[in-house]
This record gives sequence, structure tokens and C-alpha cells, in this order.
Amino acid sequence: MNIKSKKHIKIALVCGAGGFIGSHLVKRLKKEGYWVRGADIKRPLYSRTAADDFMVGDLRDQKFCQKVFSKPFDEVYQLAADMGGAGYIFTGEHDADVMHNSAQINLNALHFGRLANIKNIFFSSSACIYPERNQMDPNHPNLAEDSAYPAGPDSEYGWEKLFSERLYLAYKRNYGMNVHIARFHNIFGPEGSWNNGKEKSPAAMCRKVAQAKDGGTIEMWGDGKQTRSYLYIDECLDGVRTLMKSKFTGPVNIGSEEMVSINELAAMVMKIAGKKMKIQHVKGPLGVRGRSSDNRLIRKTLKWEPTGTLYDGLTKTYAWINEQVKAKRKDT
Ligand code: NAD
Repeated sequence: MNIKSKKHIKIALVCGAGGFIGSHLVKRLKKEGYWVRGADIKRPLYSRTAADDFMVGDLRDQKFCQKVFSKPFDEVYQLAADMGGAGYIFTGEHDADVMHNSAQINLNALHFGRLANIKNIFFSSSACIYPERNQMDPNHPNLAEDSAYPAGPDSEYGWEKLFSERLYLAYKRNYGMNVHIARFHNIFGPEGSWNNGKEKSPAAMCRKVAQAKDGGTIEMWGDGKQTRSYLYIDECLDGVRTLMKSKFTGPVNIGSEEMVSINELAAMVMKIAGKKMKIQHVKGPLGVRGRSSDNRLIRKTLKWEPTGTLYDGLTKTYAWINEQVKAKRKDT
């Protein structure tokens, strides 16, 4: 099969194409006219993949990885990782797996990417690489890209990402690969984990509000005064594509500067749902006190930044999660 026909402008590989961001990225690349191969240990959970070819297998496995990198891809997007929200990353129970699995995937992707002569590779790093000491004040966190060192992430997930950033940069230096590294900040939207223990705060909040009765009570981990910013999936992909089309290596933040407390996030979701409920603050894994994207570098280098509001993104996400909750109720 001549996959690089006139119909397709480029061919791309998306590792992690069965995941939240990866499955949306495949759809985006297809819309742009790409031929896309997806690879993942599982297929997307909530809709059919849009990929032309989808290989199910373990990217920790060298033999599988070699097969995945068997075409002259113009672009590779490496998003596969062992990850989840605070309930997965911060309990400590998954530390060894998170570090081992994700590092192994990145080692394989770069090794077989180099052997396959891949020139352009994207790596999804995370805001979790930033030092904990700069995120103690919920109102004034410092997440400028150059604040990453001296290193001090608050999770093993963050340490693995930092190691892998360095690995990608070393492949650029030693083997001339065009590497593009983004540090994602809390990406959310429809078709993300919402009830399997890997969900993040926006999805968890939407689920709790959708499941609770008007006037009822929902639980929240911590005092709700910790701050975060959240970026809607479509804007995340705009950022990824802008970075990939540029000559800029990064690492660069892809996130929103609209910082809210978790209490404010809950209030927004309730407003969208048209429900009012009491919040019961309970003990739970929390992460840092304050975190928000710093977009000065991306504005300067790529002349791009997200412009959508959290409220609009949450409205679309709540609608999708509410549908899932209703569908589950019907099943039981
Ligand atoms: P996700 O968990 O939905 O997607 C990751 C995918 O990797 C999953 O489909 C999973 O099956 C796959 N995977 C894991 N181990 C694998 C293996 N051994 N072999 C093959 N596939 C394997 O997560 P996501 O939210 O889509 O995140 C994508 C990337 O972006 C990840 O690298 C993540 O660390 C990074 N990131 C995400 C966020 C966010 O807010 N979603 C924030 C920062 C960084």
C-alpha cells in the first residue's frame, strides 16, 4: 500500500493513541490530511480510533516497538506513559511502575526512532517536573520553564518526565533528531478518564456533581484552597501542532494561565449543572499547593497561547460526563 499518496500530506505515528490526548491527536492529524498509525497497549475507551492503522501492543517490548517504527514517519508523537490523576500519582503505590514503565517506553521510542531515521519527534512532558518548593504558595506559583533546575519534583512521575526530557535532548544533541518537548498542564475534555481511578480533578468534579442530587453533598480532597489551571483538549492540540511545525525544541509549557482554586472549580461545575450542593472536605492525595502555567516563553517563541475559558471547556466536558453517568445508570 502506498500510504504516502497524494491524498496524505504526511505520515505520522502516535504512541499512546489509545489514551485521552493521543486519541484526540489522531483525530486532529486525520483532519489535517495525515496518514496515521496509532500504537497503544489498549484501544481508545470511549470511541473508535480515527487512525488508519492501530497496533495494539506493549511499547516497553523492544520487538513490538521495532515493528511500530517500521515506516518512514515524517512525525512521531510520543504520548504513551503510565499515568493518572492525584489518586494514582501521589499515593506512592504506583511509583516503581510509573518510573519503570514510562522510562522504558521513552528509551525504546528514541532507540527505534533513531534506527528508523525519524527526524521529528514530540514528547509530552508535564508540569509535574517543576520543583515543589516553587509551588507552596497557592497564589504565586513559579512555573517558568527555566525554574525547573535545581530539580525537585514532588512525585516520581515528575522525576521520570525530567529524566526523559533530558534523554530526548541528548538524542537531539548526539543524533541530530528534531525534538519538541511540551510540558502539559492539566489537560481536560470529553473522552478522558472519568471513573477509573485515573481521572483528574475536572473530570472527577464533573462526575461527582453529575452523580449527586441537587442539594446533596459531594466530597473534595483537601481544603479546596489549592490552585490549578486547566487547558481544554482542543487548545492543547493547537499548541502541540504549533510547536511541532516550529523549529523550537522547548521544553515549553502548554497550559492555561487561568488559575482557580479547587473550590472555585467545584462552584463552576455546579453552576454549569444547575445544581447546588455542600462540599465535605476529606483527606486525600493532593500534590502541590499552587500551580498554573507560565506562558511567557510560548508567547514569545511561538506567538501562540490558549484563549478559551475554563468555563467553556468545563461546559463541554460536563455534558459528556453527564451522558456517561446517565448511560451507566440505565445499565444498572
Ligand atoms: P492517558 O493515560 O489517557 O494516555 C496514555 C496512554 O499510554 C494510555 O492509552 C496507555 O494505555 C498508554 N500506555 C501506557 N503504557 C503503555 C505501554 N507499556 N505500551 C503501550 N501503551 C502504553 O494519558 P493522557 O492524559 O492522554 O496523557 C498523554 C501524555 O501526556 C502522557 O505522556 C502524560 O504523561 C502527558 N501529560 C498529560 C497531562 C494531562 O493533563 N492529561 C498532563 C501532563 C502530561
